Amino acid sequence: MAYLIIGNGPAGVSAIERIREIDPQGKIMLVSRENNPPYSRIMTPEYMISEVDEENLFYRGTGFYERYSVETRLGCKVKAIVPEKKTVILENQEEIGYKRVLIASGSRPIVPSWADTGIKGVFTLWDKADSVVINQQLGETKEAVIIGGGLVGLQAARALSARKIKVTIIEKMKQLMPLQLDTIASSLLLQAVMKQGIDVHLDTEVLSLESQNGKITAVATKDQTIPADLVIVAIGAKPNLEMTVGTALERDKGLITNEYMQTNIPDIYAAGDVAQAYCRLTGEKTVRALWLSAVQQGKVAGANMAGRQERYLGSTAMNSIQLFGLSIISQGRIEALQETDEIILKYQDRGVYQKLVCEDGRLIGFILVGDVRQAGVLHYKLGQSLFSGYWGGFRIPDGYQVNPTF
Ligand SMILES: Cc1cc2nc3c(=O)[nH]c(=O)nc-3n(C[C@H](O)[C@H](O)[C@H](O)COP(=O)(O)OP(=O)(O)OC[C@H]3O[C@@H](n4cnc5c(N)ncnc54)[C@H](O)[C@@H]3O)c2cc1C
Repeated sequence: MAYLIIGNGPAGVSAIERIREIDPQGKIMLVSRENNPPYSRIMTPEYMISEVDEENLFYRGTGFYERYSVETRLGCKVKAIVPEKKTVILENQEEIGYKRVLIASGSRPIVPSWADTGIKGVFTLWDKADSVVINQQLGETKEAVIIGGGLVGLQAARALSARKIKVTIIEKMKQLMPLQLDTIASSLLLQAVMKQGIDVHLDTEVLSLESQNGKITAVATKDQTIPADLVIVAIGAKPNLEMTVGTALERDKGLITNEYMQTNIPDIYAAGDVAQAYCRLTGEKTVRALWLSAVQQGKVAGANMAGRQERYLGSTAMNSIQLFGLSIISQGRIEALQETDEIILKYQDRGVYQKLVCEDGRLIGFILVGDVRQAGVLHYKLGQSLFSGYWGGFRIPDGYQVNPTF
């Protein structure tokens, strides 16, 4: 096989599209654990409550593989890669040879030891299949507990609350979305979440899940016991790297790639949640686990697999949410090392909060809450030098100090 793609998420799909642009004839095979046309994982919370249908979930339509002349092994898991023989071995023992292979196997939810997903009513929300089984349970659900106040947990909470289910979020840290927001932005989000009637328990830890006759009844935290007939565990994800165990592939949190999205073994590429690639702002290598990064990395990997020399320009942390009537966009570093490097342009002014984060006079991050209209401009200005006066659509105070009027 000229091109073997493992995984049909956005990284794998973008690589296929780019390869076909460059090489209309080369044989492409896709192997994927899930048996679906490409679908939007981001929309699984909406699909879970039947807010979107399959047609909208399948963002490239059902005929994608035929259109791109891709031979498929859907519903098949890659068990191992054997770089010395340039083959992969599937769980059904089939061996597939490759000239060039892309590992785009994504990530999966972390399930802590106390979370027995064998208990009826306890789920993770990651795949389309998860949405389907949760959907079947919704008719008998009155009280749901979401464990984890990050992006996936909040999207799940929004969806269940739209179905008039009483929702409680439990978060270990002192704020919601601790990885993406500072305390002020997070407090505005908290207000919006609670306005929807959702209970939020911060700074608390789950001790155990309680069940009766194999069915979930409650979640016990270190502070109290919260009744539940449905629990979604959303405490983070980790890359699917098992197939690389025992190989010489260099890995840390993900598979280490160079600017061509190539691993340390020349004909093996990696992209998406599974790859540890350049950060645009720091030059360090990081696992980015974002849809846009997966698309961009997949395109670069595909181009290089097909013989071009294209460089990945690097990612930045980037989050854009529109939840509970609140728009939030954060990008890059959300907190400066020194307070004077934070320029607060609007501070909790009727639900609007805007902060720029600088380092050595350069913009290295921002948070916009409530009014996100300048996000596009700021995105392109990341890394550039700031100057006082009118800049990027904002008025920057002299000396870049925190605006004393707030
Ligand atoms: C509920 C939810 C909400 C999200 N919201 C956002 C958001 O708002 N913004 C954002 O940027 N990102 C969001 N994400 C994250 C985003 O979806 C991922 O970063 C993105 O899907 C990663 O793309 P990928 O191609 O690397 O992997 P994936 O989309 O995870 O695809 C991996 C593919 O590999 C297959 N696979 C896995 N293991 C194997 C194996 N051993 N053999 C063969 N195939 C295998 C899987 O079946 C799958 O097809 C969200 C994710 C979830 C679950």
